[in-house]
Amino acid sequence: MNAKGLDTDRSNGEVTGLILAGGQGRRMGGVDKGLQMFRGKRLIDHVYERLAPQVGGVIINANQNHDAYKTFGVRVVSDAIGNFAGPLAGLHAGMSVSRRPYVATVPCDSPFVPEDLIERLMARLNESGAAIAVAATRGRPEPVFCLVRRSVLEHLTNFLKSGGRKVYDWYASLAVVVVDFDDQAEAFSNINTREQLLNLEAGMAVASATIGAMAGAATAFDADKPRAAPAALAQPDLHDALARTELRDTLARTDLRDTLARVVSCMDDYDPNALKVERAREVIRSLLTPIAANERVAVRSALGRVLGEDVISTLDVPAHDNSAMDGYAVRHADLNGSGETVLRLAGSAFAGKPFDGKLGQGECVRIMTGAVMPHGADTVVIQEIVQAEADQVRIPAGQKQGQNRRIAGEDLAAGKPVLTAGQQIGPAELGLIASLGLAEIAVRRRLRVAFFSTGDELASVGAALKPGEVYDSNRYTLYGMLSRLGCDIIDMGVVRDDPDSLEHALKTAASAADAIITSGGVSVGEADFIRELLGRLGEVVFWKIAMKPGRPMAFGKIAHLGKEAHFFGLPGNPVAVMVTFYQFVRDALLALSGRSGDFVLPLLQVRCTSGIKKGPGRTEFQRGLLTRDSEGRWNVRPTGAQGSGVLRSMSEANCFIVLEHERGSVNPGEMVQVQLFDGLV
Ligand code: AMP
Ligand code: MG
Repeated sequence: MNAKGLDTDRSNGEVTGLILAGGQGRRMGGVDKGLQMFRGKRLIDHVYERLAPQVGGVIINANQNHDAYKTFGVRVVSDAIGNFAGPLAGLHAGMSVSRRPYVATVPCDSPFVPEDLIERLMARLNESGAAIAVAATRGRPEPVFCLVRRSVLEHLTNFLKSGGRKVYDWYASLAVVVVDFDDQAEAFSNINTREQLLNLEAGMAVASATIGAMAGAATAFDADKPRAAPAALAQPDLHDALARTELRDTLARTDLRDTLARVVSCMDDYDPNALKVERAREVIRSLLTPIAANERVAVRSALGRVLGEDVISTLDVPAHDNSAMDGYAVRHADLNGSGETVLRLAGSAFAGKPFDGKLGQGECVRIMTGAVMPHGADTVVIQEIVQAEADQVRIPAGQKQGQNRRIAGEDLAAGKPVLTAGQQIGPAELGLIASLGLAEIAVRRRLRVAFFSTGDELASVGAALKPGEVYDSNRYTLYGMLSRLGCDIIDMGVVRDDPDSLEHALKTAASAADAIITSGGVSVGEADFIRELLGRLGEVVFWKIAMKPGRPMAFGKIAHLGKEAHFFGLPGNPVAVMVTFYQFVRDALLALSGRSGDFVLPLLQVRCTSGIKKGPGRTEFQRGLLTRDSEGRWNVRPTGAQGSGVLRSMSEANCFIVLEHERGSVNPGEMVQVQLFDGLV
């Protein structure tokens, strides 16, 4: 039983209720709205009374008048960010001090908070696995009535740190589930003007308060704009209508855009600033949408491509039982159990020239490898153990029935699948396809990958180097790796570090390619405007991966003109580009190409002849040289300098020495894992 005397206990001890009382939008006539009197009490008293029974504890966010809010005996916190930065700053402050796994916000100026708000938000949040549940009425979200998992605090902190203020934008970067409260639309009415307050006081104007709520919803997300002026309330103006449309579009897009956030929110140890290599792979894998389109090509052109459809055998291969050896075809039943048997030679069978007749009792046929088994014969005795004189053939004892005979269809059986869609076509597959007599085969179209280098310091090959410039080498390593992977490549050159050029390049790439790879520009100093740009074009996360080399990396999807492309923002350092490509992008591109099965390269255990310094807490990919010693044993040692700019280390190496996350230093003679470059492309 709760304070309201309802017969269901609606309190949820895992939720902190956060009343948002800070911000310019929550002031009226120079007084905090929450402190305005309404029906004998302050507005915030109404809110508190409705919220407190539903949650484990309450926190109030206010930036002034703390004494007035302390009457509830609960914690009152100010924004950590100055200038009344809006509801997100309040949410951030509340989440930072809350110790419960969920935080629910309600504004201080909505005295009719639903009594089952938390219960219903929680049910949908759990059911959907989303990061945030937001109440909505008549399809319109009530953005400040929401339930948030506290695990998204870091995401919010990063969003605010990078200058984000609008609830719209933050929601768009997360998995949001919208919860319908149509049955009690008035409960979300907030009070914006004294006039509304007086009307409500008189019990007459729920309708006008609802209009106020509507206009409020359109602008409440936007911390830069004050709430709608009274004149706009009676008849919401065009701006509000547009803002609402924008809101709807944003939320409609959320379904598309929130996949990454949803994946990430399901991971216990997801930390974008110290992400384990395995976690990064997991996130990438779960967001890939492989291409499905096929094209038909001649058999030889299918080499290296991904099979587009299952291949079902139309015939038995071999078509007939035939001999696996040169020898004599016999009826096993004619042979003596012990001792030799003498058979009469009835004829011969060669590959392509079968024995016409049927083998009678006591007869045998001289047969060559690949020749069709004569009628009646079931066993082949190899010629080396047989004594033949004229038409007398002596067969020694101990022959097994069926020996040296290939059965029709033992390679490929008619009606059975031979190859499955998603397999890569290698030499063996080419042969199998040819053995079915097929001249053409369906393969997936090639993956289109656009790539460019970013950096004001980059010079293109052939040009004279100006002071402070370096030649762009990344585009060449990328060209090499992508070509060997069999992608169709779109080389977009060098793009300068300015927002307009980058935006143009990214949009062009997104509309033309399945995947976009960039190098440079994702390190801490440079990420800010790229972050903002990528956030606008799609859903991209920035990671600091717990690895060396190649710490910073960005990953996600960006869209333009209705086309979507996977995005891989690699670091700028030349070795880091190659390492992150091999460790993340290679597998992702193979999966995107439609490859099924496991194409992860094996790690082999090899003795390391030199010591390597390393601390636990990150995975290292040292460039190694695998060589054989005088006794033929394989050993590995790091190639010289391991700096992430030392591309020579990649060229001198023939493998990565993969030192696991938890591993400390390596002593000479210890076993280490190596990954061969051969096979990496
Ligand atoms: P960034 O990640 O953009 O800060 O770049 C890190 C380092 O890599 C800097 O020293 C850059 O000059 C270098 N770098 C970036 N892009 C390239 C490139 N395409 N070719 C060679 N070096 C590069
Ligand atoms: Mg750069």
